[in-house]
Amino acid sequence: MLATRDGDQIVLPGLASAHSHAFQRALRGHCQRTSSSQESFWSWRGTMYALASKLGPESIYDLARFAYAELAMAGVTAVGEFHYVHHQPGSQPYGNRTELAEQMIRAAQDVGIRICLQRVLYQRAGLGKELEDGQERFCDARVEDGLADVENLLARYGDTPGVTIGVALHSVRALGLDWIREASDFAKKRGLPLHMHLSEQMRELEECNTEHGTTPVALMRDNGVLDKDFVAVHATHLCAEEVTALGDARSFVCVCRTTERDLGDGHCDARALLGAGARLCTGIDSHAICDPFEEARAIELDQRTADQGRTRVTNAGPLLAAASSEGYAALGMSESYHSDEVRLRAGDPALVGATDAHLDDAVIFGGSPRAIESVRVGSARIVENGLHRDYEEIRRRYEHTFQALFRGAEFS
Ligand SMILES: [Zn+2]
Repeated sequence: MLATRDGDQIVLPGLASAHSHAFQRALRGHCQRTSSSQESFWSWRGTMYALASKLGPESIYDLARFAYAELAMAGVTAVGEFHYVHHQPGSQPYGNRTELAEQMIRAAQDVGIRICLQRVLYQRAGLGKELEDGQERFCDARVEDGLADVENLLARYGDTPGVTIGVALHSVRALGLDWIREASDFAKKRGLPLHMHLSEQMRELEECNTEHGTTPVALMRDNGVLDKDFVAVHATHLCAEEVTALGDARSFVCVCRTTERDLGDGHCDARALLGAGARLCTGIDSHAICDPFEEARAIELDQRTADQGRTRVTNAGPLLAAASSEGYAALGMSESYHSDEVRLRAGDPALVGATDAHLDDAVIFGGSPRAIESVRVGSARIVENGLHRDYEEIRRRYEHTFQALFRGAEFS
């Protein structure tokens, strides 16, 4: 049992969101409604690009700091930031090439949560496709340039408590095989976490088949990318051979249910993945909803809905582990896992009636951020009485920045 009782509180380990795009928090409530039956992941992506094209060092910091404060107040003590907005609008790098990555790290440090900054490699729009408006900021001219940024971040933050650096491959769509191989070798030589959007969309599978004649996971397996430090984000549309490949490699799958629901992505077969030996973690991803309890229970409950049956994936203990210890492991932070703590009010209406024999069940299937009393990261208590220590200042700054970014903007 991971949850324990201490008087009128229920004590949990720190929770991890292993996959995040913090700036997308600003899209919440602005791109969920649809204006036509043709809305899809791809039309959502156009709205997200419009926001990404407006961001600068200060505004990305303000959005990220608010998103991380909200995470902290939901019990999240460690975040994996899949960071892909690197350069100035147009594509010119900043004078300091890692300026925006450092702003994300600063935001997490100022809030007081741990961060694994996953520096994303992004080469192209897709095989033979022209870059779309907004994508230039994500791209590097050469794979060496992106990997040099990782080296610089490692040099700067390698000894910084609460910060780890990872490598991220944006997707099969956005990278040629030569970039994938080089970045994977780079990460393996240094023992860094390697995260990748994988098998998220049917169109991705079709394009992978056209370019490589195989499936995304099989392509990674055949090129030596899969191992215990590899994290496949989403892994929605896997065939049996791909499930086996991820299991044999003891790789992670990061499930991001509230985002996958919002985008209409479908959902992964978590039961088959666990059965094959893969490890599960969870991610709040687009910040469409900020609730780590929902991310964990949805792995089970969405499968029940699909199957029209009960207890289809696993029990509360492994689901809570996916949202905590397994997330820390996927972020290269296992040694910090026992340093952090989240306390819930046992008197919160959602938790009243919980028994000590089934605390994990009560927390996973009934818990919500409303029940958070306090959050401690190492020796620092960053949330007290459910509120982040700097919440009002962080919120005011966020609202000011939000207004400036969206002045005159139209959301469909
Ligand atoms: Zn993502």
